Parts: sequence; C-alpha cells; structure tokens
Amino acid sequence: MKEQGSISIHTENIFPIIKKFLYSDHEIFLRELVANAVDATQKLKRLSALGEVKTEINPNPRVEVAFDKKKKTITITDSGIGMTADEIKKYINQIAFSGATEFVEKYKDKGDEQQIIGMFGLGFYSAFMVADHVEINSLSYQEGATAAKWTCDGSTSYEITDSKKKEIGTEITLHIAKDSEEFLDEYRLKGILDKYCKFLPVEVKFGTKEESIEDGKDKEGKTKYKSVTVDNIINQIQPLWTKSPSDLKDEDYIAFYKDLYPFAEDPLFWIHLNVDYPFNLTGILYFPKIKNDFEIQKNKIQLYSKQVFITDEVKDIVPEFLQLLHGVIDSPDIPLNVSRSYLQSDSNVKKINTHITKKVADKLAELFKKDRASFEAKWDDIGIFVKYGMLSEEKFYEKAKAFGLLKNLEGKCFTLDEYKEAVKDNQTDKDKNLVYLYTTDESKQHAYVQSATKKGYDVLVFDNIIDSHFINFLEQKLEQTQLKRVDADTVDKLIQKEEKIESVLSKEEEEKVKGIFEKAINNTNMAVTVESQGVDDMPVVITMSEFMRRMKDMAATGGGGFPMMGDFPDSYSVSVNANHSIVSKILKAKKEEEQTTLAKQAFDLAMLSQNMLSGKDLTDFIERSVHLIAKN
Ligand code: ADP
Repeated sequence: MKEQGSISIHTENIFPIIKKFLYSDHEIFLRELVANAVDATQKLKRLSALGEVKTEINPNPRVEVAFDKKKKTITITDSGIGMTADEIKKYINQIAFSGATEFVEKYKDKGDEQQIIGMFGLGFYSAFMVADHVEINSLSYQEGATAAKWTCDGSTSYEITDSKKKEIGTEITLHIAKDSEEFLDEYRLKGILDKYCKFLPVEVKFGTKEESIEDGKDKEGKTKYKSVTVDNIINQIQPLWTKSPSDLKDEDYIAFYKDLYPFAEDPLFWIHLNVDYPFNLTGILYFPKIKNDFEIQKNKIQLYSKQVFITDEVKDIVPEFLQLLHGVIDSPDIPLNVSRSYLQSDSNVKKINTHITKKVADKLAELFKKDRASFEAKWDDIGIFVKYGMLSEEKFYEKAKAFGLLKNLEGKCFTLDEYKEAVKDNQTDKDKNLVYLYTTDESKQHAYVQSATKKGYDVLVFDNIIDSHFINFLEQKLEQTQLKRVDADTVDKLIQKEEKIESVLSKEEEEKVKGIFEKAINNTNMAVTVESQGVDDMPVVITMSEFMRRMKDMAATGGGGFPMMGDFPDSYSVSVNANHSIVSKILKAKKEEEQTTLAKQAFDLAMLSQNMLSGKDLTDFIERSVHLIAKN
C-alpha cells in the first residue's frame, strides 16, 4: 500500500508559526513524545488485563529514547498499543493537527507571548519544533494488523505506506532540523529527560551505563566485583507521592526531598496529599526552613500531570503563600493546554487551591495540638509562612487563629487568645484599649524596652520582614487593640492610664524649657514637648509616632500603598521630662549659654540611646562631655 494525502487544515503551513511561537520551549517535544509512548504502553497493559490482547505482552515494557548524531535523528520507541494506518490518519492527521490549527487560528494575530507560553500539552506536532521531517512506524496490537509507516516533512502533506515492523508498538523518528542540532547531544537529552520524565510510570531507557556487580569471592574470601553494561533507566516509575502514606517512613520522605532538591537542608515536615473527589490530586508538600528571607523561591513546587512534569510555575494553581512550600503536586484535572487567564477562572483550579489551603492549615493545627513544644521550636521557620497565610487568605486565618503565635522578648509563645489574657490587666489604657508593645530590634531599642519592662509591660518581638504588614493586620482583626513599638512614645503615653503625674513646673516654666530645648536642638523635624513624667524616667526621650513609622516601614517593604512615604524626612517627637532634676538645673542656670549646653547634652544622650548620634554631632557631644566632667 502506498497512499499520499493532505492534512486537512486550512492554514497552509502551520509549523513555522508553531515554531516561532513556542521558541522558548522547544525542548518539550521530548516530553510530549515520551508521554505519548508511556500512554500507549499503559493502554496496552490495561487492554491485556481485560483479556483483549491475543498475543503475549512484555511484562516489563520500556520506552526507549535514542539518538544518532551522524544520521541526525532522535527516535522514541515504545511497545504500546501501536496504530494502524487508519488510526494514524485519524489520530495524527486529523486530531493532532486539528489541535494545531485551532491553536494557530487563535493566536496567529495576537502574538501574545504570555498566552502562548502558558499553553502546555502540545502533543505530537511539537515534534516539528525541532524536526523538519518526522516518521511514524507502527504495528497495532490488533489481530492481523499491518504495520504502517507515515512520513511528513512539516508541510501539510504526508505519505503513508506499509512497513515491515515486527514488534507491536510505535517508533517515532525525528530528523532534526539544522537549527535544532543542539538536541543531538547526550547531555542535552539527558537533561531534558531528567527534568520532564524523571517520574514517568513506565521505565524509560536512554543509552547504557556501567554498573559494578558482585562476582564471586577471591582467594581471601572477599567479595569480587565486575563491571557490566546495563540499560540506563532515567526514571523512578513509582515516585513517593504515588505510594500510600501508611507504607512510608520519615526517611523515605526526606530521601525523596533530597532527590527533588539535592542541595537543600532537610525539610521541617510535610503533608502527603491524596484526593479523589471532587478532583484528583496527589502530592507531597514540604515545609522548608524559611528563616528570615524570601529567597526560598529557588526550590519550587513541581507540577505534574500523571507523573509527567509540566512546570514549576504554579502561580495560578497554588495560593501565593503556599508557594513558599516545596514538593510536588500531581493532578490530571489541572487543565494544561489552556492559557493562564483561563486557568485562573477554572473551577477545578479554584477547588484545588481551597483544598490545599485547608490541608495545610489542618496539618499545622494537628502539629500544634500534638506537640506544642516542637511546634514552638519550629516557629522561627514556619512563622513567616503562617503569618503570610493569615494575611492573604481569610479561610486560612480562620484556622490559623488557633495556632498562630506571638513571641515575646523572653522567647515565650502565646496564641492570640492567650496573649490577650496575659496582658489585659496591665496593658489596658484609660479608654479601654488593649495595647500590645513590641520591639523590632531589642538592642537598638534597648532603653525603651527597659522603660516598658520596668513598668511590668510585656514586649513582643516582631523582627521579620513580614511583620510590618502583620502588625497592621492584627490591629484590623483584634478588637480594641493597638500595637505600638516601644519607642513610639514615652512609656507613660504608650499606655495611658488614669493617674496623672503632677508637673513640678509652672506653665511659664514649661514654656521656657521648651524654648531652651528648641534653640539647643535647632531642627524643625524635632518637635519638642515638655511633659510631666516620673522623676526616675529619662530626662529626654526621642520617639517617632507609631503611625508615621509604620507608613515608612510599609513603604520600605513595598506594600501598604504609600510608595512616597519613603521619601519623607523622618520626623520625631522630643519629650522633655518636666520632673527630671536636669530640667530644674537648666532652669536654674544663670547664663543662657549654660542652659543651651545642658539642654543639648541631655538631648544628645537621648539621641545616643536611639542610635541616632553620629559624625560631627557625636564628636561635639564627646568634647562637651569631657568639658563638663572636667568642670565638676
Ligand atoms: P494527545 O496525546 O493529547 O491525545 P497527541 O497529538 O500527542 O495528542 O496524539 C494524538 C493521538 O495519537 C493520541 O491520542 C494517540 O491516540 C495517538 N498516539 C500518539 N502517539 C502514540 C504512540 N506512541 N502510540 C500509540 N498511539 C499514539
């Protein structure tokens, strides 16, 4: 038999268009062809199990990928169901190519790179991204089938003839195009197979390798070894996520993690996902050690469809905060051959999102309940993740309320409810607002932390990059609760109580002190107030309002919608303690110059405790100090 025909599509020559559009992703031709070969192999296995195959089938079928540098070919051979000439015409000429036509029709005018890159599952015709001439040589499993050979040079015409193929299955030969000869290379092909085919469910052979095996004993009774050449199988046909969790030990999960990310530290823990309904999904999500950075992206979650690697861009499939996790997700229900924008609105994808979020929250809740001490020990690593989740997903927040922790300076952890209980008696102000105090850097804010703890207040630690957002979020969520950094105000005003400290100064004296300090400081970004505080409190305290600082923090970490705030000059409050003995000394000083010197000195001390004194100001301060000490 020999038959020539024309592939029934309208666009004259679709391949150059496909090639151009898919430029960045040419290597996936191999994934597509090997996946087809695996499919065909599994189909034959199923049919055989159903008793529908008359001949013996190979109990350990393999797909083989080979290349020939001289002939410039790559072949993919399987022992699957094969195709008759009619089936080739039907599946390859019509179905496969109709997909291509549709694709081209849809995108030829748009040239929208994003849409196109977002399209996976190119099928058989992706072969033409790298080959200018493709052959299919196939023998169907069906009784009495004749082997058939199809050839096509990338135009819309093909030729189909009888062939002499003896074994059931299909052999696809790609005659590699001049501009794709990079693929005729062992390491290149190995790399592609390793990326996409590492966990395919049927063994994939690529070349051979040397292996050393036992070879009896030598004279001294020691085991001898010899080197043999064996098939190089590039995949694990039963990756961990396809197994039952009850059959697996911790070591297995950790070993698999190392397999996925050879250079990563051990994960903290993991979740084995296994869903049949309402969609199909399996996978393992690992919690990495995140520490205080977002650089984690380098080990991404890998997305598979029936053990075929699809992508590690899981942006639309996994909620953003879960992208901090590592591992694999495998689902045949994720539509792969559509564009990104479609993916976002796909209802399966939404369900998957919700489900994964719920699973992760449940796992964390379980860990917290089962072993709180170990959960707390891991908090520094998982805190950033939990906070991120609480911020970004309401449903996650609802569950995480029970295990999201606040940590204080002593390293003690509290749930939100526990913390409220712990501080409410001492940290409720006169307007019935609860005030939570925090520090972002204990050593830098040391004087303020001291003042607060001296009052018996508890101080939380928020030193994570996500915390500035988390603090705002907590204030929105918690009723009548304010969060203030320890240096946001003088300690008496951080949490204002009923009792008022009387000032020893008259109104006029306070005005005078204010004037002296304003003159000494000589900086319009420093607003001076004179306030009556305890005699033991600091003489001068410099603070930045919680609101102002938070806006600046948010702008700095790229959120909150105040990008301009970062450019504002810092503005501070300088609070002078009317009741401090230094202040009465300043008032008593005879000369104006002496008043200014004392005020400046007190102010510089406050600057020093805020880590704000440097350069000439610092030198001046030291000189002035030396002078003052020498004088007394
Ligand atoms: P898809 O795999 O998405 O169906 P393809 O274009 O890759 O689309 O393949 C079209 C059809 O051709 C397949 O559905 C299958 O019926 C047939 N086919 C492709 N490759 C093989 C193969 N190696 N063995 C048997 N049939 C195949």
